[in-house]
Amino acid sequence: MTDKQIVLTPEDVQRLMGKDAQRTNILAAKMVADIVKTTLGPKGMDKMLVSPLGDIVITNDGVTILEEMQIEHPAAKMMVEIAKTQETEVGDGTTTAVMLAGKLLENAEILLDKKIHPTVIAKGYRLASEKSQEILKELALRITPDDDEILRQIAMTAMTGKGAEDAKEKFSDIIVKAVKQIQDSNGIDINNIKIEKSKGDGIKDTSLISGIVLDKDRVSIDMPQVVENAKIALIDFPIEVKNPEIDTKVSISSPEQLQGFLDQEERTIKNLVGKIKASGANVIFCQKGIDDFAQYLLSRERIYACRRVSRSDMEKLAKATSGKIVGNLNELSEREFGFSQRVEEIKHGSDTLTYITGCKNPKALTILIHGGTSHVIDEIERAIKDGLGDVIASLKSGLIVPGGGAIEIEVAKRLREYSQGLSGREQLAVEQFASALECVPLTLAENAGLDPIDTLTELKSRHDSGEKNAGLNLFTNKIENAIESKIIEPLKIKTQAINSASDVAIMILRIDDVIASTGGKKGINPMARGMPGMGEGEY
Ligand code: ADP
Ligand code: MG
Repeated sequence: MTDKQIVLTPEDVQRLMGKDAQRTNILAAKMVADIVKTTLGPKGMDKMLVSPLGDIVITNDGVTILEEMQIEHPAAKMMVEIAKTQETEVGDGTTTAVMLAGKLLENAEILLDKKIHPTVIAKGYRLASEKSQEILKELALRITPDDDEILRQIAMTAMTGKGAEDAKEKFSDIIVKAVKQIQDSNGIDINNIKIEKSKGDGIKDTSLISGIVLDKDRVSIDMPQVVENAKIALIDFPIEVKNPEIDTKVSISSPEQLQGFLDQEERTIKNLVGKIKASGANVIFCQKGIDDFAQYLLSRERIYACRRVSRSDMEKLAKATSGKIVGNLNELSEREFGFSQRVEEIKHGSDTLTYITGCKNPKALTILIHGGTSHVIDEIERAIKDGLGDVIASLKSGLIVPGGGAIEIEVAKRLREYSQGLSGREQLAVEQFASALECVPLTLAENAGLDPIDTLTELKSRHDSGEKNAGLNLFTNKIENAIESKIIEPLKIKTQAINSASDVAIMILRIDDVIASTGGKKGINPMARGMPGMGEGEY
């Protein structure tokens, strides 16, 4: 060996190896977990996030917090992925999943300090993760699909502590009704439920509407406000002459020519509206623009029209009214129309909305959320989505588990029993996995201002004496049978959270070399210990 340095990579590539790589990654992952930790459970706190443009988001939702934070560190980004997967797979449990991954890594550090090799820890964690899935399935309780009361309790558990608190009985009613209504032999397609928001009135005025509600008003007040027996044309072309995509130049040299040109424009619009009228449509939803003259002509023909309807709303309308979106005028005919019993413009506070009710497809539903400010409404929307996700997950598998940390304590207990049969080092890893699961009740207690150690000790002793559903009830601050206390969650939240948390923890543990290109960008060091503003310098 010589002292001479051999350069393998360009200058702007930074490298961390062995222990340094491991510890930096674990630290970053733990920091992410610490961020969301304080929001867990009904007594968790909210976070206020302010974007560079000054937009404010106030939330308790793990995935929303992490997405808004624009995290850069590569290992920390993997943690954000856990939350995203949890969100798409279940729609709830994002905080739990991220926290669990952080705790698994924190506990792995204890073993690394004892000189246990990361691959051994990874193997132990893998065994523990697989065993947990087995145990979870054994412990899960079966519900029948028509057990609406339990479904409502599941929705309520999902929404506790999320700003939806005051109206959670009503919301859970809406959620269960909505999910039941869209369920058919093909299963449950959440896309059949549209969520629309309206400022004004209180959150208790939130309602479930059979049909579609659009955040649009009719383009002219001279149009009818209500149309019965609506024949709906879904139009994907502009009802105007000017085509902004083509840069046209017209040279005009005399007043007659100008008049002729204007007449020509008028004729084109008249022709367009005439064809719409002739097709028999009395309502149009247009994805593009409708110009003033066309608005005037349409009102004269007593046609109700909305413009610039978003593509996703157009698709929902097509599904709900059994209509087809038409791309050019010649296709417009009754065959392509959608139908609904009533189209009506309704004003709520400062918002004007269009209701399309009595649709051909009864599965089209809208949950119309009311609230005083947009921040309130957005947080309610997230709470309702959690509730929807949990109720759907419960119906799909028919399996539920007790919340309030009950299931985590029982799984931990059984994992410890299982670990007895393993060899020394793996046994230690499985034990650390088990104690990581206990972070759920521990944090629930901590966030509620209870003594976490006392709570955990009592929970463990109650489980040791055979009370396998004993959990922390934060309404009464007592350890109770969580099912009887109506704190119920779908099994899927837990299987998914444990799965992705252990996958990511194992993946991070196995990294012993980070080779990062900064791409010549100054000031960005993806491997810096900590994150910007967190008081730690560059590595
Ligand atoms: P996540 O993003 O992981 O869903 P939440 O903030 O929604 O995080 O908290 C979920 C946790 O709160 C679950 O462990 C659940 O069992 C627990 N929980 C919900 N309601 C209660 C309650 N009334 N008492 C105790 N724990 C509760
Ligand atoms: Mg939740």
